[in-house]
Amino acid sequence: MKYISTRGQSAPKSFSQALMAGLAEDGGLLLPESYPHIDAHTLHDWRSLSYPELALQIISLFATDIPKTDLKAIIDKTYTKEIFGTEEITPVRTLKDGIKIEALSNGPTLAFKDMAMQLLGNLFEYVLARENRMLNIIGATSGDTGSAAEYALRRKERVNVFMLSPYGKMSEFQRAQMYSLHEPNIFNIAVRGMFDDCQDIVKALQNDHAFKQHYHLSTVNSINWGRIMAQIVYYFKGYFAATNSNEQKVSFCVPSGNFGNVLAGHIARNMGLPIHRLLVATNENDVLNEFFTSGHYRPRDAAHTFVTSSPSMDISKASNFERFIYDVLDHQPEEVRHLWQQVSEGKGFDLNQLMHKIQYQFGFAAGKSVHADRVQTIAQVYAEDGEIIDPHTADGVKVARELRDIGEVIVCLETAKAAKFAETIREAIGDDINIPRPEKLCHLEDLPQKVTVLENDAQAVKEFVQAQLDH
Ligand SMILES: *Cc1c(COP(=O)(O)O)cnc(C)c1O
Repeated sequence: MKYISTRGQSAPKSFSQALMAGLAEDGGLLLPESYPHIDAHTLHDWRSLSYPELALQIISLFATDIPKTDLKAIIDKTYTKEIFGTEEITPVRTLKDGIKIEALSNGPTLAFKDMAMQLLGNLFEYVLARENRMLNIIGATSGDTGSAAEYALRRKERVNVFMLSPYGKMSEFQRAQMYSLHEPNIFNIAVRGMFDDCQDIVKALQNDHAFKQHYHLSTVNSINWGRIMAQIVYYFKGYFAATNSNEQKVSFCVPSGNFGNVLAGHIARNMGLPIHRLLVATNENDVLNEFFTSGHYRPRDAAHTFVTSSPSMDISKASNFERFIYDVLDHQPEEVRHLWQQVSEGKGFDLNQLMHKIQYQFGFAAGKSVHADRVQTIAQVYAEDGEIIDPHTADGVKVARELRDIGEVIVCLETAKAAKFAETIREAIGDDINIPRPEKLCHLEDLPQKVTVLENDAQAVKEFVQAQLDH
């Protein structure tokens, strides 16, 4: 399997090269040259597989330059009960109103990013050892990506992590989770700006080819193909858990920001998984909702990005969206280049004429949830089901309920645990609510923290990275 750029001006790459590169040299995103198709017989056989077995089947279709026995060892040590809490890894349950919830949030940082990042950490370690080289990961996080990356890469040899986060924009729990790591290969950088500013700085450093090469920079942001690949697995797993036979169809509802999670669903659907619809749930930052209901894509700048109570979705420039649009445009890189030229000029674009294809052929729909909806949904689910869902999942449940057709089975992806967002939970349910938290995270906020605060300036970040590595 070769990997090509959405902008068509980079040489094709192997899986390992795509994994290590992150962004393509031409500024585009890497995609497999075609999606493998899973026939009915194979899909039938996959129904009874365990999570790691299923992951091996799916991932070996994409990671074709890693021997299957090595891949098996990597996957088997990643998707364990010890790391993800249950044998099923992503257990599915049903709320009283019939909405199903697939838990992607039982990993070390209590958010779905662990699903891919834990695998990436092990894949990086493997490829770096094989090639006898080192790597400096530079990333931007609005909260969950950063901690998931740091927990996946701490104590790994040959890897340093430089993680940019928006200063003062994350929950106390998220900050504590990242900044309490003291491993010498982990560098937390708080940037005086928004998440999108952090993301722009990472792109600027990535696009400085000399700098990137000299310092062996790579990224684990949601643009990394390896992450999308790993996420495809739980759509299959969730589908099998929610159905008795492959005759049935289910829809997935996905709390979305950077469009990485739901993109994996789109690919699973393209591979032949019987997904009816993909429901994109946004918060107040509703760029994606606007696109999927009107065809207008109008990314916003930091000044027009709200800080909300589902902060991991506070994104107004969905970095994975380019991969989806590449598919929508039937793989025409010159068209993609043209559209992203407009995006880079702050203009956005209009695909109104392709809405029929996007909604009916690709099965996309979208909805929006705001703070009041979120709080109400958390309270309602608590009253009805006696369980506490996190604010992002609540956005998903709200949109799933709103868009559900009669008889439609919807699996809503649970992207985080409530414990990460205590403030909003208390607002929804009451101050004296006891929010369940894994034992080992009980005193997280009391641990000493390590972070460097920098201005919103790519040059400042560059100098910091240089200072750490030039000795
Ligand atoms: C990252 C994240 C999202 C958004 O996922 P994308 O892949 O960026 O669309 C939603 N919820 C939580 C809790 C997250 O951490």
